[in-house]
Amino acid sequence: MTLQENVSLKPYNTFGIAATSQYFTDIAAPIDLQILMQSGLLNAFPFFILGGGSNVVFNKLFAGIVVKISLKGITVLEETDDSVLVKAAAGEVWSDFVDFCVAHNFYGAENLTSIPGTVGASPVQNVGAYGVEAKDIIESVEAYEILTGKQRIFSNSDCQFDYRSSIFKTKLKNKYIVASVTFRLSKQPKLNLEYGAIRTEIEKAGITDPTLTDVSRIIASIREEKLPNPDKIGSAGSFFKNPVIPVAQFEALKEKHPAIVAYPHKGEYKVAAGWLIEQCGWKGRQFGNVGVYPKQALVLYNLGDCTGEEVKALAKEIQQSVETHFGIALEPEAIFV
Ligand SMILES: Cc1cc2nc3c(=O)[nH]c(=O)nc-3n(C[C@H](O)[C@H](O)[C@H](O)COP(=O)(O)OP(=O)(O)OC[C@H]3O[C@@H](n4cnc5c(N)ncnc54)[C@H](O)[C@@H]3O)c2cc1C
Repeated sequence: MTLQENVSLKPYNTFGIAATSQYFTDIAAPIDLQILMQSGLLNAFPFFILGGGSNVVFNKLFAGIVVKISLKGITVLEETDDSVLVKAAAGEVWSDFVDFCVAHNFYGAENLTSIPGTVGASPVQNVGAYGVEAKDIIESVEAYEILTGKQRIFSNSDCQFDYRSSIFKTKLKNKYIVASVTFRLSKQPKLNLEYGAIRTEIEKAGITDPTLTDVSRIIASIREEKLPNPDKIGSAGSFFKNPVIPVAQFEALKEKHPAIVAYPHKGEYKVAAGWLIEQCGWKGRQFGNVGVYPKQALVLYNLGDCTGEEVKALAKEIQQSVETHFGIALEPEAIFV
């Protein structure tokens, strides 16, 4: 394990924000993780556990240690006629894991194709897209307690998954490093085509009996249309969570704004944050080096050399205007570090 000083974080975040970490270490092997935890460094300094940096907004300086998780490996642990257990190390690129499942005809991960980031962040964030969440396929999570270095295997229910959240973002925030995730995938053909434009696009492409590859390809192309490609445009994806509001509040809003976009969610309503932001006139606007993406108002993006402070300031203005117009408090999905 090596500890570097004054490392630029620009290559390590998809927003492309220029920032520096006082200390930085890249954990590429399990032994590095053990050495790091035995060193006591994480108990002595502020730290941030970094995956692909696709959901973070850095300030100019991180006065502590950034721990980049680069552990690799994807293994099939167990296979029956019906299902398969696949273990993926935390530093694997999420979309490589999805591609692995698709290539092996393992069903369940395909709707989560093209989500940037790493496998290790998937249980932390409970990533989701096109009607599927990581929680639907996670069997267990292998993690190490930062204070003691002890291994703990979290079952799916131990993870307390919620909308873009889990125990790793709430009760156990900054307490564990995820080393690997074991997923249960189905070997029986089971596709989830009912969300968004998936079925329409499949029909448009003239596909009558879609395969796993067809579905993941179609979803990747729908995403490419709507979201900035992180290799070309800096962003953190959806910047805010879709707010969940009580039925009475939704009904009152629906009366005032009949076109409101919302879906029933656990006895309440989940409102499309992008719609709220667009209604407040933010879509396509630019402020210095940061803008609101013209194709999707939920995405803030880097117009050149934006700083974390600029992103934070714009996010705050958007939150204030949505609160004033709709009485709804938007919560950032992106993490300010
Ligand atoms: C263009 C674009 C599109 C996106 N689309 C989606 C989408 O459709 N659905 C969706 O859910 N998200 C989406 N996102 C957000 C992002 O891809 C996810 O949140 C992703 O899971 C973040 O992974 P990461 O490895 O980059 O994590 P990071 O951004 O590096 O970190 C995110 C959080 O996870 C923690 N973390 C990371 N690795 C570990 C680990 N090994 N152990 C413990 N904690 C860890 C970090 O400390 C931090 O709190 C999108 C982002 C972009 C840029």
